[in-house]
Amino acid sequence: MTSLNNIVANKSIAEWIVSCPVVGDICELKETVWVNPDKKPFNLAIASCPLTMEDIVDAADRLDRFAPYVRKVFPETAATGGIIESDILPIPHMQKLLEEEENIPIPGQMWLKLDSHLPISGSIKARGGIYEVLKTAEDIAISNGLLQEGDDYTVFDSEPFRALFSNYEIVVGSTGNLGLSIGIMSAKLGFQVTVHMSADARQWKKDLLRSKGVRVVEYDSDYSIAVAEGRKLAAQNPRCHFVDDENSKTLFLGYAVAALRLKKQLDEKHIAVDQEHPLFVYLPCGVGGGPGGVSFGLKMVFGDAVHCFFAEPTHAPCMMLGMATGENHNVCVQDFGLDNLTAADGLAVGRASGFVGSLMRPFMSGCYSLKDERMFRMLAQLADSENIYLEPSALAGMYGPVLMQKSEAMGKYIVDSGLEGKMANALHLVWATGGNMVPKEEMQSYYEKGKSLL
Ligand SMILES: *Cc1c(COP(=O)(O)O)cnc(C)c1O
Repeated sequence: MTSLNNIVANKSIAEWIVSCPVVGDICELKETVWVNPDKKPFNLAIASCPLTMEDIVDAADRLDRFAPYVRKVFPETAATGGIIESDILPIPHMQKLLEEEENIPIPGQMWLKLDSHLPISGSIKARGGIYEVLKTAEDIAISNGLLQEGDDYTVFDSEPFRALFSNYEIVVGSTGNLGLSIGIMSAKLGFQVTVHMSADARQWKKDLLRSKGVRVVEYDSDYSIAVAEGRKLAAQNPRCHFVDDENSKTLFLGYAVAALRLKKQLDEKHIAVDQEHPLFVYLPCGVGGGPGGVSFGLKMVFGDAVHCFFAEPTHAPCMMLGMATGENHNVCVQDFGLDNLTAADGLAVGRASGFVGSLMRPFMSGCYSLKDERMFRMLAQLADSENIYLEPSALAGMYGPVLMQKSEAMGKYIVDSGLEGKMANALHLVWATGGNMVPKEEMQSYYEKGKSLL
């Protein structure tokens, strides 16, 4: 037990609890809601933002250029022409189940964004991670005179390109899913690739990567250490590109492209998002790049009509802690006596990205935390009601629509945002961030654990 006298960022924990009441609940591992007092109207928030819509469109165009290559080397992307994208679908049975269980109405409609079923690596990391590897390959090919503007990118699937990339190394630190995305894509292009895996990483992810020729370095420690080690080793080699999950703008923009694609999907389904039809998005958060990038893109596309909430395990609420204290990445959950141990391995991060925290401060609606047991219960409920199987991390967003009704802080948010009376028109989009590649036996044991808790 950490003493309340311990000093964190120039204040004792006891003082933090007084000045910032959610810190007390966080320290007690309570399920907590934090609403962002620094959120600004979109036109003000955007004024001080270093990234633009142009940056997102540039990333989307790059993915379009690579689509013929991706389609060729990953035939599972043929249906979407080499574009790595997931469906959205309504989950009315799950919505009803939650309403009955919690004994509350959930006005509006719950939908799921199925990044769990993204091709190639089965998680949200197939957005940012794969994008950063492709951009790195493009940069190297251009600087070595192998690629000209207007070229057909299927040339990336050829011996000269693989020979070139074999002289370069890609390195990343990961709790698992980012390693999968970076490892699979890098190996396919012909790069040498090393993934530094934290202790949380599942064995099957390491095995899968090794089967594809990826070097996997294992650590007994958590994510931050794996990243720091990877960064240090990569710095010694000029032909090495380190994918910096804590700071990469490239990764972030790869995630942000999701917003342009979602806009198109909603238009096709004639689903309106505007002042009268608010969009609530609930995103599981680890270091923050995935949910941050997606949310940033959504704010650029939908402005004040979209409300983005980040969801974290009670044992690893690093983004909420950084945002609520205002200390960002200067503080970590361990400073406050939390252990960062969670079955939601994709979210087992003790210190959030400082880059994401500061960029998202005027845009983000808030954060909440939930217990692992709740994720497991909802995992089983979703399987039973909708026949969709997700990994535990990916259920974190599912509690958001319940909290909009159940939490006093969220109720105040609705009133303060002028959304009372509009909730019947709300779209609650739960971002399902992973699960499709989990081996059958492992998924079965997740399901049984959830069942046993119901
Ligand atoms: C990585 C991951 C997240 C969160 O993304 P961050 O960029 O780490 O915040 C959420 N869900 C799953 C399944 C993940 O693998």
